[in-house]
This record gives sequence, structure tokens and C-alpha cells, in this order.
Amino acid sequence: MNAPVDSLSDLVVERVGFGIFVLDREMNVLMWNRFMQDHSGLSPDQVVGKSLFTHFPELPRVWLSRKIESVFQLGSFAFSSWEQRPYLFKFDHDRPITGGVDFMQQDCTFMPLMRNREVVAVCVTISDVTHVSIVQREREEAVAKLQEYADRDGLTGIANRRYFEARLHDEYTRWQRYGGEMSVLLFDLDHFKKINDQFGHGVGDTVLRVMAQRVAGVVRAQDTFGRFGGEEFALLLPCTPLEDAMRVAEKIRCTIADTPVEVQGTSVPVTASVGGAAARVGVPAYDVLINEADAALYSAKRQGRNRSVAFS
Ligand code: GH3
Ligand code: MG
Ligand code: MG
Repeated sequence: MNAPVDSLSDLVVERVGFGIFVLDREMNVLMWNRFMQDHSGLSPDQVVGKSLFTHFPELPRVWLSRKIESVFQLGSFAFSSWEQRPYLFKFDHDRPITGGVDFMQQDCTFMPLMRNREVVAVCVTISDVTHVSIVQREREEAVAKLQEYADRDGLTGIANRRYFEARLHDEYTRWQRYGGEMSVLLFDLDHFKKINDQFGHGVGDTVLRVMAQRVAGVVRAQDTFGRFGGEEFALLLPCTPLEDAMRVAEKIRCTIADTPVEVQGTSVPVTASVGGAAARVGVPAYDVLINEADAALYSAKRQGRNRSVAFS
């Protein structure tokens, strides 16, 4: 025997996996389905015939009333996504708390119910989109993490060359437009090949890591410190004339040379040579600045290493 169509649609509304309720123009509840009952703990008997705000005073009253009124006036659908408003009702969700969301995330639609071309009521649907929001949040976090990894050097954790050059390019462009001062320092560890040969590559790696962290600890927050190549590092100093940059160079050189690195019970003495150059009229591009700092670094090596030299 077939059930009458009316009761079939009633069954669907009851069993369907999202919230359905109906409001009149005064925000009184006319209908309240099973999903709404199960998640609010309030049966149709308790809710129907009363203002929605009687049982849910925490609802965004002004926003919701305006939304409903606009559907009455315009006779067209309205929507609210979890991305604009994470939830309408404070319903629990069935996800592990580790998902990082407090309440069930909800997409809402506001549908005009028409009779004789007139809106007689508004049907509101509530979809549980908690899983979507969690996946999206996780994806955003993963992208941010990847971005972070893409900018870092794997061994030392400081900025990598690509990121350093991007920052240098930005800073150089700013300097070309607005003038001022900016300097670049290049560091190269002295006789690093010998350290590898004498102590092994593993110790060499540890020395690079310790040095990078030690120097990173003394540079200013507005400066960018990066690993430029194998045992070569670079420091970008915005708003800094060459003279001041060379003082920073000496400070860092001493930070490196003054304390040997302790690795696996052995004390490894390390020194570095530094070359510095500053942006000035006639330097056409940021990579010329790098070349100049490199030339100064080469000069420091020739003069006996463990020293800093400014490009001239
Ligand atoms: P100089 O004073 O002239 O700079 O001498 P140097 O031995 O440091 O110069 P060179 O450029 O000839 O050698 C650099 C060495 O750094 C050779 C290479 O094996 C080592 N090196 C480069 N990258 C790494 C790394 O990631 N880990 C380790 N352990 N060694 C590295
Ligand atoms: Mg080198
Ligand atoms: Mg070297």
C-alpha cells in the first residue's frame, strides 16, 4: 500500500540530514524538524508558535531579523556561509575536539514560501559543514607551513637564498624609489673544508647550524639573515649606511670567532671573513651589490681571513 504523498514529504522533512524550520514575519516559529529538535534539545511542541528568540536569545537578533525581512520584501533566496558567520545556532558537533572548532559550522539558506505571489513565510535550512570547515582550515595551515618551509634553509632553519634575494630585491626597489641607506654583508667561514676533512661532514653540519643560530641571535629583527650557499651567509641591513654595517660585521665576526663550537666533546674553532657593500647612486641593480660585497669578501680572504672589509 502506498503512503499518501503528503505524509511522505513529512517523513522526508523529518528524516533529512539538515535543519529545516519556518518563520513568519514576526519571527515566530511555524515548523521545526527533527534535526532541529535533536540538536537543540527542544521539540516542536516547545518551539512552534513562539518567537524564535524565546528559546534562543543568543541568536544575532538584528542580523537575522533583517535577513528574514529582506526575504519577505524581495521574495528571493538569501544565504549565509560558515565563512562569513561560522554558525547560527550553538549546536555541538560530532568531530574530535582536536578539529579546533567550538560549535557545529553551518551554512544557512533562507527560502521564501510563496502563496499567490506573496511571501507567506520563510523556510530556513541549516547544513552541518563542520567537516568542510575543518578540512579547509587544515589546508590553510598546511599551505602556510609549506610557505614557511619554502623560505627556510633545511639545515640551519634561517632564510634560504631564494627568500633572501627576494627580500633584497624588495628593499633595493624601495631604496631606488625613496632613497636612504641600505647595506649588504656576505660571510664566508674560513678554511671550512679543513673542518670537514678533520672532523667529518657531520661535525661540519653542526658547526654550520650552531653558527647560523648564534648569528641569528645577534642580528636585529628588521634585518634579514640567510644562508647564501654552502658555508656562506648573507645579511641584509635596511636603513643602514656602510659604516654602521661594518660595525655589525665586526660584531658578528667576533661572535663567530670568540667561542669555539663544542661538538661531540671536541672544540672546533671557527672564524669567518666578511665583505660589505652599500647601495649608492651608480649601483644599477641589487645583484651588483652582492658582487661588490663578494669582491670585498675575497679581499678579506686575501688579507689573511678572520676580518671584515668594506667594498671601495
Ligand atoms: P676559505 O677560507 O677560502 O673560504 O676556505 P674554504 O675551505 O672554506 O673554502 P671552499 O669554498 O674551498 O670550501 C667550502 C667547503 O664547505 C667545501 C664544502 O665541502 C663545504 N660545505 C659546503 N656546504 C656544506 C654543508 O652543507 N655541510 C658541510 N659539512 N660542509 C659544507
Ligand atoms: Mg665558500
Ligand atoms: Mg669558506
